[in-house]
Amino acid sequence: MRICGSVFGPAPSFGAARGDQAWPARSELRNAYRRDTVPHAMENRSSFSDLGLDPALVRAVDGLGYETPTPIQREAIPPILAGRDVIGTAQTGSGKTAAFLLPILQRFLKQPPGKTRALVLSPTRELAAQIEVALRGLAKGTRIRGHAVYGGVGMTPQEHALRSGVDVVVATPGRLLDHMSRRNVDFRGLEVLVLDEADRMLDMGFLPDVRRIVGALPRDRQTLLFSATMPSEIEALSRTIMRNPVRISVSPPHRPPSTIRHEVYPVPQHLKTALLVRLLGREDMMSVLVFVRTKRRADRVARQVGAAGFDVARIHGDRSQSQRETALAGFRSGRHQILVATDVAARGIDVEGISHVINYDVPAVPTDYVHRVGRTARMEAAGEAITFVTPDDEGDLRGIERALGKSIPRVTLPDFDYRAPPPPKVRGHEGTRREREPRSGGGPSRWRPRPGRR
Ligand code: AMP
Repeated sequence: MRICGSVFGPAPSFGAARGDQAWPARSELRNAYRRDTVPHAMENRSSFSDLGLDPALVRAVDGLGYETPTPIQREAIPPILAGRDVIGTAQTGSGKTAAFLLPILQRFLKQPPGKTRALVLSPTRELAAQIEVALRGLAKGTRIRGHAVYGGVGMTPQEHALRSGVDVVVATPGRLLDHMSRRNVDFRGLEVLVLDEADRMLDMGFLPDVRRIVGALPRDRQTLLFSATMPSEIEALSRTIMRNPVRISVSPPHRPPSTIRHEVYPVPQHLKTALLVRLLGREDMMSVLVFVRTKRRADRVARQVGAAGFDVARIHGDRSQSQRETALAGFRSGRHQILVATDVAARGIDVEGISHVINYDVPAVPTDYVHRVGRTARMEAAGEAITFVTPDDEGDLRGIERALGKSIPRVTLPDFDYRAPPPPKVRGHEGTRREREPRSGGGPSRWRPRPGRR
């Protein structure tokens, strides 16, 4: 067994975790639960390009680390691309923002800039700001620009953006009406209107404002309405402002089995792998599925965990079918203690006897959390789901806790050095979306096992 401990202070005490004697017990357990199913879902999974999206947008979603469309994206993108009005019943966290932004971007790809063609109405500043950020990410590599206008900040930069004819305006109703009354915005070329979180607009008393705004827009437009629930007032509104809408409903995620123990480990981004290595050394970590957000990260984490002396396989969308099957077969048989996977695998893997699911990255979508942790606690009485959380992940974590209907206990290890400095940067660094591979010939030096500790 290799031990990695030099950079993170004292070598972790791994106990008997990966000693040879652990093998027979684990294999026996694995064989008891073994099931020879092929991961059909992976073969048939849909991709963003299957939805008819332009390669520039597929590259953008790939850059954001999205591998497969969420259910609302799968269902809403095709009719929106076809120009239909759509009512989507979906919660925040379902991926609905990209579900409406991607087809809007596609529609504008070939149009000259300089005219405001889309308006997204949001009940809150926070949501408007989030939509603007999502738009920037998805429109990367295109000339399409968006700007958020909301109260509580100066009017002038917003006025400049509106007067320049920014392609997509994201706005809260009150501030937008201010701009409209000053004639800062020209909606004559408007093609698409989105009402996001319509039920919250109703709750916050914005429906009269929304009606005034919609009344000032061209009638010949596409209208998209998203709402977590459909109260009668929203139904009535939709009847007056939409034309023959397609209805799409994405049910809230099912809850995972109650036998799963959920734990959150707060950790700085740069110490995630060290913490992972520490946990993997625990005696009960017999068969561990580690989820990461991107394909590149899957490669890196698998390499680092392998360099720390563990038997690890990896599985993600860039690996061929035969590579995936080999990795899965090795995991299933117990040859590999650990499988590092992206969410593609969560839907495809049917392996029983997984003792732990570790979310190296918090899944951005609560449904993904449910899918991920559902891989453990299948036949055993208990399974454990561990989620690493950096301070930036708190928002996503709250969404998951809401979906579970309970808060998840925070756990810290008393003998883990949470204040260890970030390692020297070799090439690329933690936390960036696009991580570069380290130099060939091995991982960063901190992951090389210490000689004589095998
Ligand atoms: P939303 O429901 O639009 O607020 O999205 C919730 C979160 O899911 C955001 O952080 C998005 O970046 C993320 N997201 C959206 N679509 C996907 C996808 N297809 N795969 C992974 N993450 C996604």
